[in-house]
Order: sequence, then C-alpha cells, then structure tokens
Amino acid sequence: MTTAIPGPVHTDEALSWLVDAGIARAEAGLHREPYVRDADRPLINLASNDYLGLSTHPDVIAGAHAAIDLWGTGSTSSRLVCGTTRLHSDLENELADFLGAPAALVFSSGYLANIGAITALAGRGGLIVSDTGTHASLIDGCRLSRARVVVVDRGDHEAVRSVLAERTETRALVVTDSIYSVDGEPAPIRELYAAARDHGAALLVDEAHALGVRGPGGSGLVAESGVAGAPDLVVTGVLSKSFGAQGGLVAGSAVLRGHLIDTARTFIFDTGLNPAAAGAALAALRLLRARPDYPQRLRANAVRLAERCGAPTPSAAVISLIVGDPHKAVAAALACRERGVLVGCFRPPSVEPGTSRLRLTVRADLDDATLDHVGDVVLEALREVGATVR
Ligand code: PMP
Repeated sequence: MTTAIPGPVHTDEALSWLVDAGIARAEAGLHREPYVRDADRPLINLASNDYLGLSTHPDVIAGAHAAIDLWGTGSTSSRLVCGTTRLHSDLENELADFLGAPAALVFSSGYLANIGAITALAGRGGLIVSDTGTHASLIDGCRLSRARVVVVDRGDHEAVRSVLAERTETRALVVTDSIYSVDGEPAPIRELYAAARDHGAALLVDEAHALGVRGPGGSGLVAESGVAGAPDLVVTGVLSKSFGAQGGLVAGSAVLRGHLIDTARTFIFDTGLNPAAAGAALAALRLLRARPDYPQRLRANAVRLAERCGAPTPSAAVISLIVGDPHKAVAAALACRERGVLVGCFRPPSVEPGTSRLRLTVRADLDDATLDHVGDVVLEALREVGATVR
C-alpha cells in the first residue's frame, strides 16, 4: 500500500489528495473522555486508548500535580544531561517489577521507545524479521535501523523460523506487537520466542495494547505467555494507553538497559519524559497493581459490547468491525457520532484498501447500560448507511 503524495510537486493541491478522495481524517480524537462534548452535547467515547479510564482518575491526576510541584513543568534536558529525576528511577524500577523484567527504561513516547530499541538492537549487516501487523513505530524502527528487513505474514511463526534458519547474518531480531493495534488480536508470543531462541535471535514484543488489559493483573501478554524476564526478550510498551499518561518504555535485562542508554538515539538526543507524565504513570501503575479488577472489568466489558454488536469475542479491548468501503466506514462513524457515540474509523493508509472499519476501544469505566446502548447505536448506524460487517 502506498501513502505517496500523487503528482510531482508538493503543492497544496497535491497534498489535498486524501481530502479529495473523501477519506481525510477528522479531528475527532482531540476530545477527552469518558464523556466528551460535541456542540454542548455529551458523547460516549469509544475511540480513545484510555482503556482503564485512568487519565481522569483522581489519584493519577494527583500524581501529575505532585510531580509538577516538585520537579516543574519540563524535564529541562535529555535524561543523560540533567533530565533524570527520582520519579523516572522509581517509575523504571516499579515498571520492571510489574513486568517481571530485571530492568526498564522510559522514553518520552511509545513511538520513540520502539524506534530507539530497534535501532539500538539491529543495524547494518543484521537481520530483522517483522510481520504484516506491526505498528508504524516498529516499522519506522526497522527502516531506520538499516538492517535487512524480512516481513512475514502476521502470526506465522514457522515463517519466522525459516527466515532465521536461512539467514546469512549473525545478528537477528524478531519484532512483533503482542496485541495487534488495528484488530486487537494476539500474536503467538510463546512460539515466536521459541523460534527466536532456537535460532540465536532476540525477540522484541510491543505490549502497547496488552498492558492493563491482558496477563496477570494487566501485566501483559508476555507475562500471560509465561516468558516474562526470559533471556533475549525485549518488551516495549506505552504509558499513553492503560496508564492514562504519556511516554514509552523498554524492559529487559540490565545489560539491555545500559546498552539503550549508550546507543538509543531517541533516548540520548530527546528531552527526558515530562515529570507530569512520569508522575501520572507512576500513580497509574500503583493503582493498577492495587486493582487487578480493573483489567478484569475491561475484558468483561469488551465481551459484552462485542456480543451486543454481533462481533466475535474479542481478545483484548479492541473491537474491529470491518465494513470494507472507506466512505461507508466514515459515514457509519459520523452516524454514530450524531447519535452521541464516538468511535474510531480506520481506513487507508492505516489499513489495507478494502478493509476500512469502525474500531471501538472498550473502557473499564463504562457500565452495562452504556455498553448496551453503544452496541445498539453502532448497529443502527451501520444499518442507516447500508454497511454490512464481515
Ligand atoms: N505501539 C503501538 C502498538 C501503538 O498502538 C502506539 C500508539 N498508538 C505506539 C506504539 C506509540 O505509542 P505513543 O502513542 O505512546 O507514542
């Protein structure tokens, strides 16, 4: 799939191709939750990544306030100069403990954590095996690494094995999401780890959509798969979804952490994670550890809403309703919005042509009546625009 701008010159005319095609993105995502406002009317938000509703939790807000009061509004420099506070160290230690890994390092975003980790672990003369479902930040990390990149079908661990077995490079890295961001389905983590291990490669798993959702107490799919803390396993994640804050993380061995500090360009040359985000994330992490019922409630909510929409039982907090035609998907999302429900709408270039969809991200802080209402609204909207879900 190409996202190239048609035409030879970068004029406004050429740049407006998505608008002209009628599939340009609206700014719906700018609103807040759990009930956002649209022209003075509340909207139920099923489009955010605030899976546990923690971005507005009083404890998490208090964590951000306290951090600002103590450390100010900015990190003021790279972590390596003077941007590391006690908060960053506490957050890293507690994250490592939560994830069952020896060490962790936080970045100023999940996007930068992925790029930093991949480029620090793979380079010219190395091999990366990725798959067709990976997030843009993993793809960009692969591209920037200058390693040879082989992309296999999503979930095809046998293909990963073959590529690793036939390689000429000594160093190899396998890269995957644990829960695929577009449709919320899981990757075969145990099998991928075994494939990497058997062939002397490391495995990097992005747990962005699994933390706070899957695994014991929301500790992720890697923990659920029984490989937390295993050798040559690198976990990345975000503080911007279930943790309700902002930032990214990489967890693994202490040697890995040291290597990232020395070589990950998005760590070295980027201003450290904002104190408010670190404070919020730390409060969210402590809350999550005290409340294992939050992820349970989230998963139960996802199952309930999927049933109401007639969708298959979801594996995580994402419900993906594939409509196909991008115009129908956009129309259905607008029809939901007119009925007071905000849903995500994914179309090319975020997804392959012909697979445009409504994407609902469920939340732990919605009650049964609201979930049932959302399900009814979505079905009504799809009917109104003549869309069938496949
Ligand atoms: N990985 C995945 C799977 C994601 O979905 C996202 C963001 N949506 C990121 C990484 C990037 O995280 P952040 O938004 O914190 O930069």
